[in-house]
Amino acid sequence: MSTLAFTTDADGIATLAIDIPDRSQNVLTPALFADLGAALDRIVADDAVIGVIITSAKPSGFIAGADLKEILALIDDGIDAVGAAAWVRTGADVFRRMETCGKPVVAALNGLALGGGFELALACHRRILVDMPGVVVGLPEVTLGLLPGGGGTQRLPRLIGIEKALPILLEGRSLAPAEALKLGVVDQLAAKDELIPAARAWLLTRPSAVAPWDVKGFKVPGGAGPLAPHAARSFQAGTARLKATRSRYPAPHAILSAVYEGTQVPFDTGLRIETKYFGLLAADPVSGNLVRSFLRQSEARKRGAFGTARAASRAVVKLGVLGAGMMGAGVANVAAGAGLEVVLLDRTLEAAERGLAHARTQREKEVARGTLSADKAEATLARIRPTAGYEDLGGADLIIEAVFENRAVKAGVTRAAEPLLAKGGVFASNTSTLSISSLAVNVADPSRFVGLHFFSPVERMSLVEVIVGKATSDQTVADALAFVSRLKKVPIVVRDSPGFYTSRVFCTYIDEAMAMLAEGVAPALMENAARMLGFPVPPLAVTDEVSLDLQKLVIDQAKADGLDARFLRAHADPVVERFNALGRLGRKSGGGFYDYAADGSKLLWPGLADLYPAAVAQPSAEDVGKRLLYIQALESARCLAEGVIDDTATADLGSVLGIGFPAWTGGALSVIATVGEDAFLRDCARFAAAHGPRFAITDGLIEQVACVAGTVRRSAA
Ligand code: NAD
Repeated sequence: MSTLAFTTDADGIATLAIDIPDRSQNVLTPALFADLGAALDRIVADDAVIGVIITSAKPSGFIAGADLKEILALIDDGIDAVGAAAWVRTGADVFRRMETCGKPVVAALNGLALGGGFELALACHRRILVDMPGVVVGLPEVTLGLLPGGGGTQRLPRLIGIEKALPILLEGRSLAPAEALKLGVVDQLAAKDELIPAARAWLLTRPSAVAPWDVKGFKVPGGAGPLAPHAARSFQAGTARLKATRSRYPAPHAILSAVYEGTQVPFDTGLRIETKYFGLLAADPVSGNLVRSFLRQSEARKRGAFGTARAASRAVVKLGVLGAGMMGAGVANVAAGAGLEVVLLDRTLEAAERGLAHARTQREKEVARGTLSADKAEATLARIRPTAGYEDLGGADLIIEAVFENRAVKAGVTRAAEPLLAKGGVFASNTSTLSISSLAVNVADPSRFVGLHFFSPVERMSLVEVIVGKATSDQTVADALAFVSRLKKVPIVVRDSPGFYTSRVFCTYIDEAMAMLAEGVAPALMENAARMLGFPVPPLAVTDEVSLDLQKLVIDQAKADGLDARFLRAHADPVVERFNALGRLGRKSGGGFYDYAADGSKLLWPGLADLYPAAVAQPSAEDVGKRLLYIQALESARCLAEGVIDDTATADLGSVLGIGFPAWTGGALSVIATVGEDAFLRDCARFAAAHGPRFAITDGLIEQVACVAGTVRRSAA
């Protein structure tokens, strides 16, 4: 058995210790299912075995879930719903055999147990979970456009009731040990050294080997189906949740159906219902897009860990952060969390200490949530040293400036700090709009200067754009990627050009909305069309959030820098001017496109209808939504054609993680493959004729579009 060690002891207790070869974490593989099946044969045949402990031999945890690369390969090969249901059924059958083998089985969960790993545990007769910070259990399949296909949608509601099970299944939220025990998804917690002894002790009590749902007369706790009041309310709440996903994500709906239908029939029939819905989801392009995106993110996170193809990376031990404002404090906090020594500098010690106070607030929240121990929080905060003295930066391997977005201020701090870098150290700017190549004139060695564009709030946003200036060396890029990987963030490499990648594409979203406003498209139609597509914040609302004075600043700066006309945002410019003149600057001034009430709620500003009267004939919501999606896809294709980005994955990751492009599409370039190349080209031609050349697919672009549509699936893994 290559994936698990099988031992038996004098008490007749068999232990299966899972250890998938060549993997840092256990995942469910066909070989593991085969080995589990063979182990069950031996257990059933051996009368001396009184019970079984299933655990993991890996210190990294129990089982992280299914092998997503295997799932993606099946999806990319075009597996249909019937094939996918049959595939998932193989594993589900092994779990069911284990559950009904006639001998008690206890899961000794020595660390994280997610997805199929936790489903395996649910098929055991008892679950004992190690009680350590950072350990989680859960069923995150919904976040990948799938459902738990190993019996999770059937066992969990039968174990803890529909009311408690549905939120776990629909949110895909991970549960820390205390919460898992409270909800009843595990039976017992144990300290690390007590885990196996506790499992043994339970087996020695000679417990029942029959799952509750296999006992005659079993009823789902709290009742199942439309007539049980608790369950009915939960289904209503679950259905309301579908509204939040705008029906673009089929998994929550399939989960609700699997639970609703499956809990009203015998358990084994429920399992068949579950596999049917799993098959339907696996055959839907959305699950492929979400699984691919997840895999790309984890690949990208590791990208800098071993250097790049061209250069080995240098490890950052000491980090300097200039500016302890919103971004600087966030970067310092995240870096300290990753174990770096951080010097956080601002104009005064008080200002720098405010940055440290921000980090403290964030860490205290984690302690309160139980995701971080108080000791670790203190140790992390102790690694941040607030200061107003440049000499404290001496010997830093990397210095990131995050001071005001002002060339003169940035030049001042850069010139003062750069000489203090360690030999071969890197200087980075977190600028959101200024050219990296132009800022590099402030350092002695521009080859060691790079952009590190973090997003706000830094703690929550996983994307970092690594901006390569004209003089930035391969070594510097490798060092920057290594640093981002160390922070467990997702880097994308972008060549220096106006707006880099994310801001450039995001601007087209806003610009297109402004074009529609001027055409007389009803604002409510536009905002709702964007919401229906899954944009987290529709274009007028997001412009208010960013603020119209900042928009004006960026447009004015672009004009002052003499940028090419296509970066001047012709449609946004007059609208932004008008709103600045009116003093309607967005949420921060109490009004912009919306009026904001004291309680934070907002309503479209009635005056908007006078400024931009709605046309008599309105376009369909579908076309409005397509314009918002496709304008960003086209700009991404232009970035690819111009060499601003190198590949589809960069655009997809950057757009989904950085600017809220709807994840179900796969991202700003994969959306072309998702909707189909021909349909995309047809719609763009129609929009170009009606709205202008920004939708025209020129020669260079058509190659990009065809290439993206053709290779997106192949390039995934
Ligand atoms: P902020 O105003 O919150 O913080 C700037 C900090 O820099 C302040 O604490 C200020 O005291 C300090 N500072 C100013 N001049 C200084 C000097 N001479 N020496 C030392 N410290 C000085 O700004 P922010 O939002 O954190 O933005 C900082 C940078 O990050 C800007 O370049 C901005 O464009 C970029 N950025 C911002 C965001 C965002 O969403 N806010 C996102 C990405 C990038």
